Amino acid sequence: MNFKKKEMYDYIVVGLGVAGWSFLQQLDENRQNYVVFDNQSQQSTRIAGGMFNPVILKRFTPAWKAHEWLKYALLQFQKAELQYGQKYIHYIDIYRKLTGVEEQNNWVAASDKPVLSEYMKDIVFESIDGIEAPFGFGVLQGTGIVNVAQLLNDVATDLKRHHKLFEADFNYEQLQIFPDYVSYGDIKARKIVFAEGFGIKRNPFFKHLPLTGTKGEMLMIETEADIPYIVKSNVFIAPNVARKGQYYVGATYNWEDKTNIPTTAARKHLESKLQKLLHRPYKVVQQKAGIRPTVIDRRPLAGKHPDYQNVAVLNGMGTRGVILAPATAKQLFQYLEFDMPMLKEVDIRRFSKFSD
Ligand SMILES: Cc1cc2nc3c(=O)[nH]c(=O)nc-3n(C[C@H](O)[C@H](O)[C@H](O)COP(=O)(O)OP(=O)(O)OC[C@H]3O[C@@H](n4cnc5c(N)ncnc54)[C@H](O)[C@@H]3O)c2cc1C
Repeated sequence: MNFKKKEMYDYIVVGLGVAGWSFLQQLDENRQNYVVFDNQSQQSTRIAGGMFNPVILKRFTPAWKAHEWLKYALLQFQKAELQYGQKYIHYIDIYRKLTGVEEQNNWVAASDKPVLSEYMKDIVFESIDGIEAPFGFGVLQGTGIVNVAQLLNDVATDLKRHHKLFEADFNYEQLQIFPDYVSYGDIKARKIVFAEGFGIKRNPFFKHLPLTGTKGEMLMIETEADIPYIVKSNVFIAPNVARKGQYYVGATYNWEDKTNIPTTAARKHLESKLQKLLHRPYKVVQQKAGIRPTVIDRRPLAGKHPDYQNVAVLNGMGTRGVILAPATAKQLFQYLEFDMPMLKEVDIRRFSKFSD
């Protein structure tokens, strides 16, 4: 990769998942110049379902900040749609299969509450091809899927065209930090932002942060059943927005295994749940695994290294990268450039005892 010779970049960004991309949006909006490193070692964003849904579907409660931040996230994805001339946002209702009278009552009670009422609508007894629901489905609106994999491909192509993407492993040992800038080989930048997802575990500057990581596996299936919604029961079935007739089935949660390798156990687990939900033949055409960058307190991680003002982190998007990453990136940028305070819930200083 030949970089255009430049005296000094504003930023080096390490990691092109939804977090890194969200930070690039801030840089573009603020006319900052930058280079990006990505080694594709982590797959979280690329294999994610890309669903956005501000309601926790187990308990029928609002997810933290999701209602407020979803609006901002959708704005950022819309900007990308205009920039690349592609459709990334697909509004699709979620049909939550209800298990009995108690859940029906809980649904009705929750759907009257502020915030939740914007998404949680009526209970319907509509039949969906191959899926039975004797107690009906609670319908969620304003939800959907962002085709983040397609977005990242388009972003990478564009960055390459402008000689801004280094498709390589970032070697932490080669980073030199000076009071006013950092340097990496021939590249100099005012600041560096690390957004490596679970790859943070190799980062000597931030590996102390309590990011545990939760492996998730998903299946892509083909079936003749026509399922126009995202159906949520013990698993999600969601239309593959990139390919008609294909459906995403997921996902698993594993806190022990930290590899990106698909397992037979996860496939069996997902298929056993799928067979209880979908009574039509299907074929598994793909299985993928990734590590969600989950944090012990389930909040994002953003901030500066305690010893180096020009070394920052953007991570910890957990299970809701689509909703959380754009607004967290905005907070981090405003903090780094204008010294505006970040929410204390995202600021890594809440974990200062871990850096001792
Ligand atoms: C199965 C599954 C389903 C999910 N479903 C959803 C969903 O429906 N909706 C939702 O909002 N979220 C979902 N998530 C969570 C979501 O994927 C994450 O919150 C999000 O992708 C995290 O993004 P990230 O950019 O922090 O990390 P990543 O996507 O992992 O990106 C980090 C990038 O940094 C690169 N990198 C790391 N180290 C280095 C290095 N040393 N040098 C160069 N590059 C490096 C990696 O290769 C990678 O490209 C799901 C996750 C999984 C696993």
